[in-house]
Amino acid sequence: MPRPIYIYNAGLTQRTDFYPMNIPQSPWRLTLTYALAAGLWVFFSDRLLATLGLPLAQLERAQLLKGLGFVLLTAGLLYAVLRTHRQQNNLVNLALSSSKQRLHQALEAAKNGMWDWDLQTQRLYFSPGYSALLGVGPEALGDDPDLWRQRLHPDDRVLFDRNLEQRLAARNPAPYEVNYRLLHQDGSYRWIQSRGRLLLDEHGQPERLIGTASDITQRRYDEDSLRQAAAVFDATQEGVLVTDVQQNIVHCNPAFTRITGYSQDEILGQSPAILKSGRHDQAFYDSLWHALQNRGAWSGEIWNRRKSGEIYPQWQCIRVIHDEQGEISHYVAVFSDISALKRSQRELDYLAHHDPLSNLPNRLLFTERVERALERATHDEQRGAVLLIDLDHFKHINESLGHTIGDMLLKEVGERLGQQLGKRMTLARLGGDEFGLLDESCSSAEQAAVVAQRLQACLTRAFRINQQELFVTASIGISLYPAEATDVGQVLRNADSALFKAKSNGRESYAFYSQELTEHARQRVELASALRHALDHQELRVYYQPLVCLHSQEMIGVEALVRWQHPQRGLVPPGEFIPIAEETGLIGAIDAWVLEQSCRQMVAWQIAGYSLRFVSVNASSRLFSRGGLDRRVAEVLRDTGLAPAYLELEVTESAVMEDPDAALALLERLRALGVRLAIDDFGTGYSSLARLKRLPVHKLKLDQSFVSGLPHDQDDVAITRAVIALGHSLGLKVLAEGIEQLEQVELLQQLGCDHAQGYYFGRPQPAEHLTAHLARSATTTS
Ligand code: C2E
Ligand code: MG
Ligand code: MG
Repeated sequence: MPRPIYIYNAGLTQRTDFYPMNIPQSPWRLTLTYALAAGLWVFFSDRLLATLGLPLAQLERAQLLKGLGFVLLTAGLLYAVLRTHRQQNNLVNLALSSSKQRLHQALEAAKNGMWDWDLQTQRLYFSPGYSALLGVGPEALGDDPDLWRQRLHPDDRVLFDRNLEQRLAARNPAPYEVNYRLLHQDGSYRWIQSRGRLLLDEHGQPERLIGTASDITQRRYDEDSLRQAAAVFDATQEGVLVTDVQQNIVHCNPAFTRITGYSQDEILGQSPAILKSGRHDQAFYDSLWHALQNRGAWSGEIWNRRKSGEIYPQWQCIRVIHDEQGEISHYVAVFSDISALKRSQRELDYLAHHDPLSNLPNRLLFTERVERALERATHDEQRGAVLLIDLDHFKHINESLGHTIGDMLLKEVGERLGQQLGKRMTLARLGGDEFGLLDESCSSAEQAAVVAQRLQACLTRAFRINQQELFVTASIGISLYPAEATDVGQVLRNADSALFKAKSNGRESYAFYSQELTEHARQRVELASALRHALDHQELRVYYQPLVCLHSQEMIGVEALVRWQHPQRGLVPPGEFIPIAEETGLIGAIDAWVLEQSCRQMVAWQIAGYSLRFVSVNASSRLFSRGGLDRRVAEVLRDTGLAPAYLELEVTESAVMEDPDAALALLERLRALGVRLAIDDFGTGYSSLARLKRLPVHKLKLDQSFVSGLPHDQDDVAITRAVIALGHSLGLKVLAEGIEQLEQVELLQQLGCDHAQGYYFGRPQPAEHLTAHLARSATTTS
C-alpha cells in the first residue's frame, strides 16, 4: 500500500491524500491479473490454433504472428499504463510544488514558521520562516530537539514538557495551541504561539508532531497594555467619559458614576450636555471646541452639574481620538472633582490670611488690602487712613494672669474693635497685641481722629474674662494716604512711628505721622466733643438778621443764624463749627434746635403783634441730601404752632444740584407743607437752568461774593443783573446778600432786585435786640 503524501493547507488542520497512480488495483493484483490473462491467452490461443489443423509450417508462422501480436499488444498496454502513470505523477508533483509554494507564501505572509518533529527519528525540521522568528539563518537551528529546547525560557520548560508528555500519552490527534518564550538571537525572549497536531501511524502510535509558530510578543504586550488600561479605567479616581463623533456617550467608568451620580444605563446614549451647569457662556464652549479642532485636546476648569442638581468644579481634559483613516471617531473626557480641592484651597487661603486666635485678617492680608487701597487711591483719587492700634501695657496682663487669659482678652478686644467697623474698613490682628485698621473712606485727618477716638472709647468698658474684670487702653498711630505715603511699606512705617509718638505721649492717645496733623485733628476733635457738650448745655444761640424789601425799605423777615457762645472762646461763628457738626453728624440736632427756636421766636413775635412775614432757616446740605427733612419740619411746625407760610427754608444751590431728582422730590414735599423755599448762595454752585426752572422755590439768594464787588466791578454788575433777570423770568423773588453800602442798595434797586440782607440793614443779633428794634419801628410807624 503506497504511503500517502501529506499536503497541508495554510491552516494545517486538514489533510488531503494523493496516490501515485489512479489505478484501482495494487501492483501485485495487476501483475497477477496480467499473468493470468497472458497464461490464459497462451493456453487457449494455442488450443485454438491446434483445432484449426493447420500444417506445421503455417502453424509455426501463425504461432509466431500470435506471439508477436501478444508482445505488441502488451507493449502497447505497458506504454499506456506508464504514460498515464507519468502524467499523473507530473500532475501530483505540480500540485505538490504549488501547494508547497502556497504554504510557504502563506506562512511568510503570516510571519509564521513551520516545524515538523519526527518522533521516530527524533529529528526536527524548521522552515526558514521559523528560524527568522528567532533572528537566525535557516540552518542555524539544526534538527536536534534538545538544541531547540535550550532556547526555551527556563520558566516555561516544565510546563512545556508536561504538556508534551500528556499529549503523547493521550495520543490525541486534535489540533492544539501552546505559548512559550524562546530565546531570540538578540538576547531577548520572544513569546511564540505554537499550533500543532499529533500524527499517528497506522497502528495508532505517535509518529510525528507538526505545526506552525508565530511571534506573539507584540500581541501579548498589547493585550497586557489593554488589560492594564482596562484596570486603570475601572479603578481610577478620575471620571472617564467617551463619546462618539455625534456626541453620544458610549462609555463611562465607575468613577464617573460616583462623581456625577449617573449610572451607566442612565447615561449611555445621552449627550454630555446633560452635565452642563449653565455657569459658562457660549463663548466658553466655543473656545473649548476651537481648541479640540485645532490642537486635538483641551484642558481646564469647568463647572458641571451632578444628577442631584449640585454644581461642582471639575478639572477636565478632553482628547480627540482618530480612526485609522485619520477621521475623528471619539472624544474622551477625563475629569476629577476638584470641589474638595477648592474647599481646602479656600481653607488654606483662609488660614494663610487670617489670625487663628481672633479670626481677623492677619498681617499678610492686611498688607495686601492696603496695597490694593493704595492702587485705588492713585486711580480714583481716593483718600484713606491706616491706624495701628497697640494695647497699652498688655505685657503685664500676660505676665500676671497668664497667656491663656491674655489670649482670651485679645480675642474679645478684636471682637469689640470689630463692632466699630463701618463700610470699607478692614480690621486685622497684626501680631501680639497690635491691631491694624484700614479705613478706605477716611478723607480727612479729622475723620481718622474720630475713628481713633471711637476705637479707644469702645475699649474703656471693662472686659469680663474668667469672672475677672480687666481694663485695657490702646494707643493709636495714624498714617494718611496718599498724602503722606504712596507705598505700603511707607504707609505702615509712618503709622508705626506715629504709634511710637502716641505711646511716648503717655498711652491711651493717638498721633498722626505729621505733627501738624496731630494738632489740627486734635483741635477739631476737641471742638467736636465740645460742640456735643454745647448742645447739651445750651451754649448755642440763634441770631436773627433782618431781611429787607428793597422797594419799601421795610423789614419783611429775618434769617436765623446760629452762634456758639463758647465759655472760653466767646462767640464762635458758624463757619468754624458747622463743617465739624456736619462731619460728626451733630448737624441734625443743631438744625432741629435752630428750627424749633426760630419757629417759637416767630410765634412769640406774632403774638407780640410784630408784622414779620417770615423767618428764614438754613437747612444743612447734609441733612437735605439725606431726606426726612420734610417730616422734621412738619413736626416742628406742629409742636410750635407756627403756620407754614411764615417759615422759609434756605437750601444751598450745591445741595440741590448734588442730586437734582431727589432734591426736586423733597422740595415738592416741603412746598406741599406750605412752607416757603429759597435757594441760598445762588451763583456758587453749578445750576442747570433746565433743572432750575422745574424747582418749586420762591426765591433766589444771590451770594454775597457777587454783591461785595458792586457797584464798581463790572463783572459782578453783569452777573447780578443776569441773576435778577433770570429769577424774575422764572417768577422768583431775588434777594441780594451781604449789602454793606448805600451805593450797593441804590444799584440793586436800579437793577430791580426785590429783597436785601446785609450789615447795612442790620447785623445778625439776638432776638431781644431785634424785638426792641421791631418795637421801635412799630412805635415809629404807629
Ligand atoms: P448764609 O446762610 O449765606 O448766611 C449769611 C451769612 O452772611 C451769615 O454769616 C451772615 O452773618 C453773613 N452776612 C450777612 N450780612 C453780611 C454783610 O453785610 N457782610 C458780610 N461780610 N457778611 C454778612 P454767618 O452767620 O457767619 O453764617 C455763615 C453760614 O453758616 C451761613 O451762610 C449758613 O450757610 C451757615 N449757617 C448759619 N446758621 C446755620 C444754621 O442754623 N444751620 C445751618 N445748617 N447752617 C447755618
Ligand atoms: Mg442762609
Ligand atoms: Mg448765603
